Amino acid sequence: LYNEKGQEVREDGKPLKKKVDILRLIKLAKPETVLLIVASLALLVSSGSQMVAPLFFGMVVDVAQKSMDELNRTVLILFVIYLGGAFFSMIRSWLFNLAGQRVVARLRKQLFSSIIKQEVAFFDTNRTGELCNRLSSDTQVLQNAVTVNLSMLTRYMLQMIGSLVFMFSLNAALTGVLLAVVPVVTLGAVQYGKFVKKLRQDFQDRLGDAGTTAEESISSIRTVRTFSGEVKASNSYSSDIEKSYLVGKKLSVALGLFEGGVGLLAYGAVALVLWYGGKLVYENSQDSTKGVTPGVLTAFLLYTLQVAMAFALMSSLYGDFMQALGASVRIFDLLDRQPEVPNEDGMILPEMDGSVEFQDIHFTYPSRPETEVIKGISFQVKPGEMIALVGPSGGGKSTLVNLIERFYDPNSGTIALGGQDLKDLDPCWFRQKISMVSQEPTLFACSIKENITYGREATTEEILEAAKQANADEFISTFDDGYDTLVGERGVRLSGGQKQRIAIARALIMNPALLLLDEATSALDAESEHLVQEAIDRAMKARTVIVIAHRLSTVRNASKVIVIDKGRIAEMGTHDELLALNGVYKRLVLRQLTAGAMPPDND
Ligand code: ADP
Repeated sequence: LYNEKGQEVREDGKPLKKKVDILRLIKLAKPETVLLIVASLALLVSSGSQMVAPLFFGMVVDVAQKSMDELNRTVLILFVIYLGGAFFSMIRSWLFNLAGQRVVARLRKQLFSSIIKQEVAFFDTNRTGELCNRLSSDTQVLQNAVTVNLSMLTRYMLQMIGSLVFMFSLNAALTGVLLAVVPVVTLGAVQYGKFVKKLRQDFQDRLGDAGTTAEESISSIRTVRTFSGEVKASNSYSSDIEKSYLVGKKLSVALGLFEGGVGLLAYGAVALVLWYGGKLVYENSQDSTKGVTPGVLTAFLLYTLQVAMAFALMSSLYGDFMQALGASVRIFDLLDRQPEVPNEDGMILPEMDGSVEFQDIHFTYPSRPETEVIKGISFQVKPGEMIALVGPSGGGKSTLVNLIERFYDPNSGTIALGGQDLKDLDPCWFRQKISMVSQEPTLFACSIKENITYGREATTEEILEAAKQANADEFISTFDDGYDTLVGERGVRLSGGQKQRIAIARALIMNPALLLLDEATSALDAESEHLVQEAIDRAMKARTVIVIAHRLSTVRNASKVIVIDKGRIAEMGTHDELLALNGVYKRLVLRQLTAGAMPPDND
């Protein structure tokens, strides 16, 4: 999210805290301390072996001119050094990677818990694809940063410093020549690191946008197909990818220039050292007290290569590390976010009668701050009553139901549930006492049994009873796998009516004190309609019910009908009282056949 000044902001409009918390980043790896210490020891040993190896290399060159025995011995030592180095490299690489995997697994779990507990309004403004991106790619970027990259950085740093020390002890003048070139390379690398970090970040953002677009189209494939929107979807994705490609193109050039530049500088330095070293060897051949032996020059050159390599790798690691810092800002921001509506903490009442009272409620959706959706609504639902909400679509009926679930908090006024202010009640507890059946219920891609018991554990008898009450047992029994039948992608595709009956069973198994219902407007086939209605009628017995009603039979049976229009109560009373008023309600009932607000019922 960006504000009008182009700063990255959080969904509440506050600028995203840009400060990178390196200490906290490192703390992520704290539980892996033991692993990391062992890995670091292995790193020391393997780096050490790499550091002394060139010395023996040089010795081989010198002793080869003198004695075969000494040559054999020196090469054997060199071989043992390399062997040990390889072994400890293996340990190092394995343990650091393992630690990285553990850190990222833990981080992903924490991040998901943090996302899933956010208030509903958060999901109105944060797109699903964006959040999933944070879970997958941002954490991936971070995975290596705190362990592997950090260890590599240490390793190359050690390698560089160690090599330089050996080089100084071999020949100070020669080292001096080399060091004259280093600052130039350093400066270039640091500048480049900054530039590439920005490009990479840009690229990642564009890719994130494309991911979100793809996710949206793929998850709504039916809508895409219905409107033959394939080309449109492809175009929209292509345009996002095109934008990321443009950045990617720049990134490629930058990377190429860097590789070339560093290569030129590093190998230029080698050539310079080679020339100066060759001169020293020549002097030594003329006068053995002057200059250096060929072996020393060999060792020196190897060290130079090591320094150059360490340097080049370090600067590319620096880029990765910077990218990880960027990702960490976004991750920590999400990890620290406290939901505006808590999910726990609060009172638990000894009993819940399901009564509801709205007192002068005003409400505006946080994602649409300019429009007040509920403009001062008060009503009362006594225990055991059945209240019907009716009115033109967009009037605010579903919003009222959302407020009872405390998906959102009202801007002013109080909502009481069971005689207690909703804000004082433990949301986790009171939501167990409320069940909601929506028009198009969502079932999870697991078995029917798991769907019915989503709200609480239940015995087989309880599941069967709930399914029977919901008129679902009959069709579930016809499936080969019965209650273990998988729903959705890999399982059985259920019809709208079947889904709804499973959703009713899922609601019934909670034995809710308050039932919130949204009658389907979309016409089911007559048979299904009848079965669903029967299940709903049964579900409504012996409990408090608030129903967004679309059927005449429902409003006729309601203890009270509340007509909601443009965020206000237009009329309130029984069906007969409201008809007598000759107002909005009467018109709604008369219009039922055309408007779709109240489709005809079958009785
Ligand atoms: P009804 O159920 O009577 O059809 P709703 O409660 O769904 O009406 O909608 C009332 C108003 O609130 C509408 O203008 C709708 O666009 C708006 N609205 C509903 N849900 C949201 C949301 N999540 N974010 C922003 N506005 C919303």
